[in-house]
Amino acid sequence: MIIKDKGLVFESGLLFFYKKINIMASIDKINFQNKKVIVRVDFNVPLDENGNITDDTRMRASIPTIKKILNDGGAVILMSHLGRPKSGPEAKFSLNHLVKHLSELLGGVKVHFADDCIGNSAIMAAQSLQPGEVLLLENLRFYKEETAGDVDFAQKLANYADIYVNDAFGTAHRAHASTATIAQFFDKEHKAFGYLMESEIKNANKVIQNPERPVTAIIGGAKVSDKIQLLENLLPLCDNIIIGGGMAYTFIKAKGGHVGNSLCEEDYLSLATKILDKAIIDHTQIFLPEDSIVADAFSADANTKKVSSDSIDEGWMGLDIGPKAISKYQDVIAQSKTILWNGPMGVFEMEAFSKGTYAIAEAVADATSNGAFSLIGGGDSVAAINKSGLSEKVSYVSTGGGAMLEFLEGKSLPGIIAINE
Ligand code: AMP
Repeated sequence: MIIKDKGLVFESGLLFFYKKINIMASIDKINFQNKKVIVRVDFNVPLDENGNITDDTRMRASIPTIKKILNDGGAVILMSHLGRPKSGPEAKFSLNHLVKHLSELLGGVKVHFADDCIGNSAIMAAQSLQPGEVLLLENLRFYKEETAGDVDFAQKLANYADIYVNDAFGTAHRAHASTATIAQFFDKEHKAFGYLMESEIKNANKVIQNPERPVTAIIGGAKVSDKIQLLENLLPLCDNIIIGGGMAYTFIKAKGGHVGNSLCEEDYLSLATKILDKAIIDHTQIFLPEDSIVADAFSADANTKKVSSDSIDEGWMGLDIGPKAISKYQDVIAQSKTILWNGPMGVFEMEAFSKGTYAIAEAVADATSNGAFSLIGGGDSVAAINKSGLSEKVSYVSTGGGAMLEFLEGKSLPGIIAINE
């Protein structure tokens, strides 16, 4: 295993960008007494056909921020999107479904609901809101102006409040009216990150700013094309990059292997070769799965066998990493001090192809209990760690799939920039 010279990493432009993020714009420095505070939360929770919440993780994640404002003696106006309404209001996407549960999560605090996020009912509700009370506005995406980042729409929302707080990390990569445009109506003393945003940024920074070495990124999932930018940005930072999932077969084919009917992106073969070459220059060791569990169909009850990942016959496809790969990856993970995991090692949704992913989840949990810092950074690896019951045994599980991916890709997130401007 290579342990990279730290000097190399500090020269990287990628880290320069991260250093500029001002996480001091925290709500801890603000006293919210008698203030009206508009908070962008990510309450985009899954609902069943009867409008019942099936997973309230995203709501729970913003409760500390809401409580801080209420405890200071402030009044909280919450805004969020829910689902993907096509054009205008749709009952199944109403935030009304969340009012009762939100009140329970806040220990019985009264939660008012405005059945429109702009317009007279919202204006009146915001005006009459008292310190210690919460007002939830109707789904922002009932207006196309929200996703368009419309300035007039953003100003209407800004007018309700003295202070703007963004706690919606899950939408921080979107330049929408409520996540970015609205911030221009508040000066630096009157806008801040909520606790969730702050902890997402702080935990991601633990991986990308002066991390304890060796640093290992575990990157899996379906396609190389979805993870190219992530891989390119991680190369100068990481000592080891472990690759699994469908994307591994593009790399294996690029190296001259036979991958049969495995997922393989022919258009990305040369880019995969470039990444492998760049890894040598960057002193980063890339690990590809030595063996695979292959199947004769993409199906839970397909015939399966264990084969070398570079000699998969036609008619067979690699759907999970094999036991030799698991064992190698476990060793690398056990020796790591900083671990980032994005993307499953196989088609973990089907039991027959879930072993690799769950073995990696356990290895990451074990390394964490031995003192490593581990970030489960978005995507299906979050679902996998939750399903494995090990989410309490890793250091941090990100709530923002796409946003965390873009952050780790080195992109500037509009929701973060807007608070810092
Ligand atoms: P991503 O969203 O890119 O992280 O990809 C996650 C998806 O990749 C999951 O739905 C997995 O089932 C799928 N996946 C993982 N390994 C493979 C594989 N070997 N072949 C096909 N799909 C895979």
